[in-house]
Amino acid sequence: MSDSIFEGAIRQLEKALKFYSIDKETELRLRSPKAALQVSVPVRMDDGHLEVYQGYRVQYNDFRGPCKGGIRYHPSVTLDEVQSLAFWMTIKTAVVGVPFGGGKGGVRVNPKELSRMELERLSRAYINEAADVVGPDRDVPAPDVYTNSTIMGWMADQYNIIRRTHEPAVITGKPLSLGGSLGRDDATGRGGFYVLQALRDKLALGGKTPTIAVQGFGNAGYHFARLAALAGFKIVAVSDSKGGIFTEEGLDPDSVNKVKVENNTLEAVYCEGSVCETVDHRKISNEELLQLDVDLLVPAALENQITAANADSIKAKTVLELANGPVSFEADGILFKKGITVIPDILANAGGVTVSYFEWVQNRAGFYWEIEEVHRRLQDRMKESSLAVYAKQQALSCSMRTAAYAVAVPSTTSSTMRPAKRTRDAA
Ligand code: NAD
Repeated sequence: MSDSIFEGAIRQLEKALKFYSIDKETELRLRSPKAALQVSVPVRMDDGHLEVYQGYRVQYNDFRGPCKGGIRYHPSVTLDEVQSLAFWMTIKTAVVGVPFGGGKGGVRVNPKELSRMELERLSRAYINEAADVVGPDRDVPAPDVYTNSTIMGWMADQYNIIRRTHEPAVITGKPLSLGGSLGRDDATGRGGFYVLQALRDKLALGGKTPTIAVQGFGNAGYHFARLAALAGFKIVAVSDSKGGIFTEEGLDPDSVNKVKVENNTLEAVYCEGSVCETVDHRKISNEELLQLDVDLLVPAALENQITAANADSIKAKTVLELANGPVSFEADGILFKKGITVIPDILANAGGVTVSYFEWVQNRAGFYWEIEEVHRRLQDRMKESSLAVYAKQQALSCSMRTAAYAVAVPSTTSSTMRPAKRTRDAA
């Protein structure tokens, strides 16, 4: 068994193609990236010495439009990982019908060890190396793990300094003051929540108050948990890189997040105003969280969290992949045999790229939307894509993942992928 995430990703495609067939040339092009850039990113540290970090940008495919995908800062970033994420972006943009291809970037660094100024120099230095290959019509980055709107702002600014231009559409997920879109901050979690809403009845998800465990309480996981709790789901457990908390009574995601922002620790609390009280709870490990007997398990951290080693112990009835690639290829087969439905990443976390597309459209038009417009368009698109994947799953009697591949890369005689969805005029 190989450790390569990319091999696992390509095996997903191969597995899907056992259920239906596509044009051979399209298949061939989908098996390898269009281009991969590996760069050294030099950064002058605060004490004066120089560090050099490894950076990557993979442009996997641009059949349907400019490459699109986030930039990740993490100590375990590798070319294999970035390439896999870029492949999934190619499929994901087609699942939700946005006119982009797939790309991804990353820097092998632990950003928690850097000062704010070092982080800014790193972000600008990364763009110094990548400026020739990114651009609004070529490749459009966005935030991912341990990057955020401030970092996107620095990167967009650096690109515009280098090119002596003003092109906010070069990067999405920017601060509002630099051309960001309303609704981009919670778009990934919100999109996942809209998928859950669209499929809730079809998947017979729990009774009146289905229980949910969320691994990874960052941008994607927190906003998903917040919206699910507001809608009446019970969030019984959440975790971050240091471990998790569990309570049968259910957690209040907003209170937990308030304390996390203030103290950088995950605590089971309930806050009223500025007063927070600890609620009865148990500390659990990430491994324990994954094995909880809940209606819905939401991995929202990193790849390969559910593997052949622990898939047999998963008790959740449904898994919604808010992270990219949290279920390995082998584990996916095991969960399927156990009757556990997996709502795949290429649908479940596509809300982020969908609102990134909205941001790109607004930047190019110079015309900015109200938040209600962003939410309505996101909900329409996530619902339509979820129902399309569900209908395909019923038609092919396959997993939801295979069905999502079949929606993205339909069976046709011409070499094509799903066209961009047509939308009503905003006015
Ligand atoms: P983030 O940096 O905001 O949050 C990541 C969270 O995961 C943090 O709480 C961190 O402590 C936690 N974490 C890290 N390692 C962990 C571990 N081993 N076990 C448990 N928790 C761990 O990142 P994010 O933007 O929320 O991204 C999370 C996932 O969602 C990634 O797979 C990312 O690719 C995917 N995603 C993000 C977006 C987006 O718009 N941000 C879009 C699509 C997909």
